Amino acid sequence: MADIIDGKAFAARLRGEVAEGVAAFRAKSGRAPGLAVVLVGEDPASAVYVRSKHKACVAAGMESFEHRLPADTAEAALLALIEQLNADPAVDGILVQLPLPKHIDEMKVIEAIDPDKDVDGFTIGSAGRLATGQDGFVPCTPLGCLMLLRDRLGDLSGKSAVIIGRSNIVGKPMAMLLLRESCTVTIAHSRTEDLPSVVRGADIVVAAVGRPEMVKGDWLKPGATVIDVGINRVAAAEEGKTKLVGDVDFAEAMETASAVTPVPGGVGPMTIACLLHNTLAAAERRETIG
Ligand code: NDP
Repeated sequence: MADIIDGKAFAARLRGEVAEGVAAFRAKSGRAPGLAVVLVGEDPASAVYVRSKHKACVAAGMESFEHRLPADTAEAALLALIEQLNADPAVDGILVQLPLPKHIDEMKVIEAIDPDKDVDGFTIGSAGRLATGQDGFVPCTPLGCLMLLRDRLGDLSGKSAVIIGRSNIVGKPMAMLLLRESCTVTIAHSRTEDLPSVVRGADIVVAAVGRPEMVKGDWLKPGATVIDVGINRVAAAEEGKTKLVGDVDFAEAMETASAVTPVPGGVGPMTIACLLHNTLAAAERRETIG
């Protein structure tokens, strides 16, 4: 039986460390690190994420600036808000909650964020820094996955890693991070042929697909470490109820792997903790460079 990787407990520890860092920052600089979160429209899942980010910020002793704009906000108005936040000395990090309404060019908005305030790590500059091995902001979800892997396995060098999913926010940055750790990295996606046998070669499997329980136990190499990024809402056994499951068949994976992240309680809590971590780093960096 595999071990369960407790992302909730790890994230709580990380949030505690960030809170200590925030207290030290406040004592030194006389101000709190500030995170601005921009939400356009009323997507219920996005609203829940924004509320959790706000609560976590406040709990860590940071300033949280929430900007809620109506769904019909013009792109130019959103870009003007980003400019204002870029210039605001109280704001260290800017996060635009995705997805944006269809009439707004997401990439244009992300690119408008000052690279020094890009705590989500989604700008082309941050992606380029990660790809070329320079310091920069790393997207929060893959950063959280890496922290869990390092905590579990220590040195990742030489391990074979398969990442299923090639999105800009999870799959690709995860691949870059694991390459930086000297893993041998394979990125799988919807066109990958014979995915089970590709996955079977991996010491580390990161599933970021968005398909409920797609990765089966017999796809896994015995003793593999499995990080399940997926968040899928499916019907529960009880009529009319729903539940969250990952991209990995958890019960089956527990029979073959050596360690597995659960959903919920695995990668999810790490994402917000890493956002706080990045925001504190942004504040410290801005304070140092002035
Ligand atoms: P995307 O939809 O952007 O990307 C999904 C990826 O999965 C694509 O690269 C796609 O391939 C690949 N894929 C789809 N179907 C298959 C298949 N049958 N076999 C192999 N690969 C496949 O998703 P995200 O990266 O944004 O998110 C992935 C999952 O992670 C979602 O469940 C999301 O909810 C969750 N998530 C969780 C977070 C957290 O905090 N825990 C944060 C962000 C996301 P192709 O490129 O060929 O289409």
